[in-house]
Amino acid sequence: MIDKILYLVLMLIVYFCNVINNLKLSKKNIILAIESSCDDTAAAILSGRKVLSNCIANQNLIHRAYGGVVPELASRAHQSKIIPVVSQALSKANIDKKELTAIAYTQGPGLLGSLLVGSTFAKSLAIALNIPLIPINHMNGHLLVHFIKDKKINPPVFPFLGVTLSGGHTQLVLVKKHFEMELIGSTIDDAIGEAFDKCGKKLGLSYPAGSQIDKLAKVGNSKRFPFPISNLNGYNVSYSGIKTAFINFIYKQKDPNFISENLNDLCASLQYTLIQIILNKIEKVAKDYRIDQIVIGGGVAANSEIRNQLEVYAKSNGWKIFLPPLHYTTDNAAMIGIAGYYKLKQKNYGTVSESAQARLKL
Ligand code: ADP
Ligand code: MG
Repeated sequence: MIDKILYLVLMLIVYFCNVINNLKLSKKNIILAIESSCDDTAAAILSGRKVLSNCIANQNLIHRAYGGVVPELASRAHQSKIIPVVSQALSKANIDKKELTAIAYTQGPGLLGSLLVGSTFAKSLAIALNIPLIPINHMNGHLLVHFIKDKKINPPVFPFLGVTLSGGHTQLVLVKKHFEMELIGSTIDDAIGEAFDKCGKKLGLSYPAGSQIDKLAKVGNSKRFPFPISNLNGYNVSYSGIKTAFINFIYKQKDPNFISENLNDLCASLQYTLIQIILNKIEKVAKDYRIDQIVIGGGVAANSEIRNQLEVYAKSNGWKIFLPPLHYTTDNAAMIGIAGYYKLKQKNYGTVSESAQARLKL
C-alpha cells in the first residue's frame, strides 16, 4: 500500500515538475530561426531575446570556383545542410524540438531556390509541431540584430538611421519601430559587397573578397590610386561606376606584375573609395533627417576601415554609432530569430500558404 502511495506521490511530483518546466519554457518563448536567403544555411535558437545557439554552414568553398554564388548549387547545398544545421542548433542550445514556441524563417529577399528550401522546411516543421510560423524579411533582420540581449550589444532608441551593407544590398533606412522601416535610399545598381567581391576577383582574390581586401588594405596606401567617388543626387548610391573604373584600370596595365607589386595599395585605394561613397550619403541623410543614431548591419559592416571611419565621422557629427559584433554581420539566423521574437510578442504570425519572395520589399 505504502509503495503505491509513494509511487503516486512520485508521479505527481514528476507531473508538476513537467508542468512548471513547460510553463517556464513557454514564458521564455523558445524560437527556432532559419536563414537560407543566399549562400549560408543558418539556424539559431533564441530564448526570448537571448541567443542560445547560432549555427552556420557556409557555402564559400562551393561557390569559390565560380567567383560568385551559383543559385542552383546554393539551393542544393541548403537542401543537404538544413537538417544537420537545425539539429546542431537544437543540440547546442540543449532544446528538444517539442519545446519550441515558434519557428521564424527568412521569407525574402534572396535567391528563390535558396529561400524555398528554408521556408518549406520551416513550414513542414511548424505543421508537425503545431506551432506558429513567423515569416521574416531578411533586411529587417540585419538591423534588428542590435536588439539581441548580449553584453556586447547596446540597443539603439527609435527612430534611427539603419544602414545595411551586404553582398546583395546597400540600403539607408529610417527605422521608426521594429517593423516600421522606410527605405530612404539604396543602390541603383551593384551592392557595396558585390563591388568588393567583383573588384577583388579582378585582383585574383577568391570569393568572397571583402575580408581579404580589408586585410591587405591595412598595409596599403589608400591615396595611391584615386578612383572616382560617385555622388548621385538624393539619397541613392551607385557602385557599378567604380567597379567598372577599377576593372578597366587593371585591364589597361601593361606590366604583368602590376597587381602583385601593388596589391596592398590597390586594395586600400579601392576600399577607401567604396567606403567614401556610402559615408558621404550617410552624412547627408543624417543631416537632412536630423538623426544622430546610425545603426549598421550586413556583411560589409565587418570591414575594419568602415568601422574606424564611422567612429571618426561620429565624433565630428555628434552621432552615436551602433556596430554589430562580427558574428552578427554576415548572414546568420540569430537576426531572423530576434525579428521573430518581436513578431511573436505581437502575435503577428504567418500562414503556410505564404510563399517565399525573391524581391520582398521592406
Ligand atoms: P548577403 O546577404 O548579400 O549574402 P552578407 O550579409 O552575408 O551578404 O555579407 C556578405 C558580403 O560581405 C560579401 O560581399 C563579403 O565580401 C562582404 N564582407 C564580409 N566581410 C567583409 C569585410 N571585412 N570587408 C568588406 N566586405 C566584407
Ligand atoms: Mg551571405
